[in-house]
Amino acid sequence: MRMYDVIKRKRDGFELTSEEIIYFVAGYSDGSIPDYQASALAMAIFYQGMNARETAALTMAMAVSGDTVDLSPIPGIKVDKHSTGGVGDKTSLAVVPMVAACGVPVAKMSGRGLGHTGGTLDKLESIPGLSISIDEQRFFDIVNSVGCAIIGQTANLVPADKRLYALRDVTATVDSIPLIASSVMSKKIAAGADAIVLDVKCGSGAFMKTADDAITLAQAMVDIGEEVERTTIALVTDMDRPLGNKVGNSLEVIEAVEVLKNTAPADISETCLELAANMLLLAGKGTLQECRELARRSIESGAAFEKLCQMVEAQGGDSAVLRDTTRFAQAPFSEQLLAPCDGYVFHMNTEQVGIAAAALGAGRETIEDSIDPAAGIDLARKTGAAVKAGDVLATLYSSDREKLREGAQLLLGAYDIRNEKPATIPHFLARVTKKGVERLA
Ligand code: URA
Repeated sequence: MRMYDVIKRKRDGFELTSEEIIYFVAGYSDGSIPDYQASALAMAIFYQGMNARETAALTMAMAVSGDTVDLSPIPGIKVDKHSTGGVGDKTSLAVVPMVAACGVPVAKMSGRGLGHTGGTLDKLESIPGLSISIDEQRFFDIVNSVGCAIIGQTANLVPADKRLYALRDVTATVDSIPLIASSVMSKKIAAGADAIVLDVKCGSGAFMKTADDAITLAQAMVDIGEEVERTTIALVTDMDRPLGNKVGNSLEVIEAVEVLKNTAPADISETCLELAANMLLLAGKGTLQECRELARRSIESGAAFEKLCQMVEAQGGDSAVLRDTTRFAQAPFSEQLLAPCDGYVFHMNTEQVGIAAAALGAGRETIEDSIDPAAGIDLARKTGAAVKAGDVLATLYSSDREKLREGAQLLLGAYDIRNEKPATIPHFLARVTKKGVERLA
């Protein structure tokens, strides 16, 4: 087999065989297929697409390209969750302890933020002492004793995706439905969960800009889950506005605590409830309505918050910052961004909000960059809000005065203020299961 022929066949619109796909993934992982041929194939897939069988074959070839995790030492049904990435998305920090507080173990491996999107590991590491580098035995022990743990992916989990994702990032081939679906699902399958809940983001802060594309991506991932017998449910949710009000690492931990204390904004609270309820459903805890009730009670009883504190302590972190969030390290510099005119916040370029947060120090441009845990944005007004000139749109935080100025400029550019009131944006757009697509808006 020659890589040249595989590229040519995909370029010309043919369906690749499973053998061709396995040949590509194995060769790219062991270095015998060079980056330039892998990028040519990624571009051919970007334009020609892949059918369900090809996407499933690519997913499985990637899933077994490195270590796979066997979660059987943890009794019970293990349900994982994954978001396709957005701005202000701190759902894992709240949903994992909510589900664990309802008696369903969650053994979660998460990633770091890159570009405009944040990552759960960076957020967790803003908690003093907390470690995300925990060996497998200790990981299982924490899940078995506490009910949940969130750690970093082991170095050799889906190495094919690590190489391919880095290549896609620099060859304009990230936003391809089969490539995203196989990237996400290969990691979830290798991480060993029995069932998976996906949060597929849609809008200006997401890879998928339209509801139709987000639903197609959700369907592709649900189909892969079915194919490999890991029941998968996908919620398609809005990312045309940042989720919640806080963007940045310790700020997002604080907002996750607010979710668990029932004091967070409605969009983030409702998203966490719905994700947790769908995870509980897949774990066999009852009907969706019963699972919503269970999730709600885990918050009202304080059990989910206590579960987060226990998890943080088991991972070496200081839970005192969760019990009193004013104990988080504060950024030395802050600035309020004021509305330049009267009107309504008509739209927010959410990707640019993420870029502004990264510029403040909350994110990284390259994987080697370090993070300023206290940097970020507290949004006072989001899409739909009426504003008067001089009203506070947001407060920005940074440890660097120059970065604060740059972040403020970028954030101002993300706000589109007009006289016209925008249409209300629904938060839940669709729920996709093996039975089909339920449009919610
Ligand atoms: N998240 C992933 O893990 N992979 C992608 O390709 C896009 C989002």
